Amino acid sequence: MTKYLVLLGPPGVGKGTQAKILSERTGLAHISSGDLFRENLKNQTELGKLAQSYMSRGELVPDDVTIAMIRERLSRPDCKTGAILDGFPRTPAQADALEAMLKEFNGCVDAVPFITAAEDVLVERLSGRWTCRANGHIFNEKTNPPKTPGICDFDGSELYQRDDDKAETVKRRIRVYLEQTSPLVDYYRRHGKLLEIDGMQTIEQVSQTLASALKM
Ligand code: AMP
Repeated sequence: MTKYLVLLGPPGVGKGTQAKILSERTGLAHISSGDLFRENLKNQTELGKLAQSYMSRGELVPDDVTIAMIRERLSRPDCKTGAILDGFPRTPAQADALEAMLKEFNGCVDAVPFITAAEDVLVERLSGRWTCRANGHIFNEKTNPPKTPGICDFDGSELYQRDDDKAETVKRRIRVYLEQTSPLVDYYRRHGKLLEIDGMQTIEQVSQTLASALKM
């Protein structure tokens, strides 16, 4: 039996943090489209160079490029039992492509936890966010600081602030989310797959609410 989960919610709501916790608990692969783009950027691949201009403006990378990248990732052996998708799909065209892809893998989107929070909280969280260079672990200087400033608690690597976590780009990313991604909320609600989760709680409370909503 496969299990595919789509984590939905605005930038900064904690999808990445929750996906990591859930992945460690369930053994399901964590697929973050943003992390995949950043990895390509770090390695200066053609895909990374193409994505860079969109990412730095806080806009979405074109659907065809994004869909091809996710298809390749989902076909790797660690996704045999399913995956937790974080940051994909982000447009109706991506959601349709995902349905078609999962059919090929004999699966479907099983559930869509939709994590929400107030916009001012999102902006504050993103601007205080520090990300680990090696594995993308996420900290926040106010709400979830690392034990040693600038160093990841989990793997000792350097923490950095993402370029697109700067105030202007953050606002653009939230606007892009409202325009292009929020229609997916209705789409998955209509299909009876949406699970609404209050993202204003602590990390532990959100992960407990998520686990009980998913019965996992
Ligand atoms: P994230 O880490 O999810 O906030 O993504 C960072 C950036 O990567 C976004 O602002 C987009 O430029 C790009 N990106 C990530 N996921 C997608 C996607 N599903 N479709 C298009 N662009 C994406």
